[in-house]
Amino acid sequence: MTQEELFKKLIAHCKEYGFIFPSSEIYDGLSAVYDYGQLGAELKNNIKKYWWESMILLNDNIVGIDAAIFMHPRTWEASGHVGAFNDPLIDNKDSKKRYRADVLIEDHIQKIEGKIKKETEKAEKKFGDSFDKEKFVATNTRVIEYQKEIDVIKARFVAALDKSDLDEVRQIIIDNEIVCPVSGTRNWTEVRQFNLMFETKMGSVSEDANTIYLRPETAQGIFVNFLNVQKSGRMKIPFGIAQIGKAFRNEIVARQFIFRMREFEQMEMQFFVRPGSELEWFEKWREKRLRWHLAMGINNDKYRFHKHDKLAHYANAAYDIEFKFPFGFKEVEGIHSRTDFDLSSHAKFSGKKITYFDTELNQSYTPYVVETSVGVDRMVLLILSNGYTEEKVKKDDGEGEDTRIVLNIPPALAPVKLAVLPLIRKEGMPEKAEKIIQDLKFEFNCQYDEKDSIGRRYRRQDAIGTPYCITIDHQTMQDDTVTIRHRDTMKQERMPISGLTEFLQKRVSIKSMLLNI
Ligand code: ATP
Repeated sequence: MTQEELFKKLIAHCKEYGFIFPSSEIYDGLSAVYDYGQLGAELKNNIKKYWWESMILLNDNIVGIDAAIFMHPRTWEASGHVGAFNDPLIDNKDSKKRYRADVLIEDHIQKIEGKIKKETEKAEKKFGDSFDKEKFVATNTRVIEYQKEIDVIKARFVAALDKSDLDEVRQIIIDNEIVCPVSGTRNWTEVRQFNLMFETKMGSVSEDANTIYLRPETAQGIFVNFLNVQKSGRMKIPFGIAQIGKAFRNEIVARQFIFRMREFEQMEMQFFVRPGSELEWFEKWREKRLRWHLAMGINNDKYRFHKHDKLAHYANAAYDIEFKFPFGFKEVEGIHSRTDFDLSSHAKFSGKKITYFDTELNQSYTPYVVETSVGVDRMVLLILSNGYTEEKVKKDDGEGEDTRIVLNIPPALAPVKLAVLPLIRKEGMPEKAEKIIQDLKFEFNCQYDEKDSIGRRYRRQDAIGTPYCITIDHQTMQDDTVTIRHRDTMKQERMPISGLTEFLQKRVSIKSMLLNI
């Protein structure tokens, strides 16, 4: 199965099992907007809980807030979004498709990187154990040429963006013979800038209505509340403010399912530090955030860091954490050293003093900020695309093979933690199952299922990622034990009902993951 096929199957699977639906589907949907169904909402909530608790419970110097989506319009002038939150767009005249010029160039660079990887893998096969990768990359003429090509494109691109030279951006596309993925032609329009913020009007009478924006990031709600939180919480630097909330961007090239949406959710934390210490904190958070990802039990190979060559106007260092999605390595989280840009700018635009008095240094300053920003929806896609697996297994009757679709979701994030299945619908088994659920439901999301054969019920739970199923059978009625089946190994073991709570707590609680960070 190719990655493309896998991605298509995953999207269909998400709809079939109630994870994610196209928004307002009965009206044919709304482009790049999606709704979370009954299981998607559970998964999303679990991800948010994992992030929130890792910030708030594990750090005694981080607090959480929940700011409004609407903000005073001056906020977005101060943040630079009114002036600079633009994407450079280019249209292909033949396919009439619109692209982000920067993405076209980055994809082209990725293709060349792919060639380097192929050469290296080929050589590795040839030389076996004696292969010295570093030496090969530094000396192989073909690889050197590819690398040179990448460096030249990158340097030109960074220079063009620095000068906001859109003609040069177009010229890079032309010179590198980048074609439209749909029409295959190089018939490009000019490159234009497009502001990504959604506007709306506030006020009941349209004439005196004020234009306001739907926030394109949650961070600004934290910056404008810096003094409120610092003073009311008597916070001492270094400290952080965390927030989870919706953000809106009128993305032009909205595609790849929930990867790039027009309405999405962010989990952001702004960490305020002494000027001069920001790069040290930046490194700490970079490492800490990767640990958060790996504590979910996902393979390290699927992650990598990407250093920003072109820094945003507010940053003095920036890395993305990228994940290997079915469509390649892409950003899931950004870690940015934002200097004192935002607080200083809000002080200037609002005319208010926004500084912090450091009692240890006996001086006032504008704190510097290290930000970690991860998309909830991209995390959902990460978990689902990482977990979706098709396996060949023996049929239940032992005759021939069957395909098992299983979502290997980290147990603590799974929408349903335990399925309770009576073997038959009589002899007191359903009542026993009901009693077990009554005891466990305060802590764990349990699902009862009595329809079809046990094998088919197991498959249904595999398909939604339920880590454990228990079966109530004849023996249960005699000795209060059940069989518990593990999703990943399909192994079954017998255990007393009285041991279930502890068994589950150890394996499916958010705490079980927090302990791994
Ligand atoms: P990209 O380069 O993919 O457009 P970005 O660099 O603009 O992303 P940030 O502004 O750093 O993204 O936002 C932080 C996080 O918010 C991203 O890492 C991503 O997880 C999430 N995010 C940003 N834009 C979207 C979107 N349109 N849909 C879903 N998630 C998004």
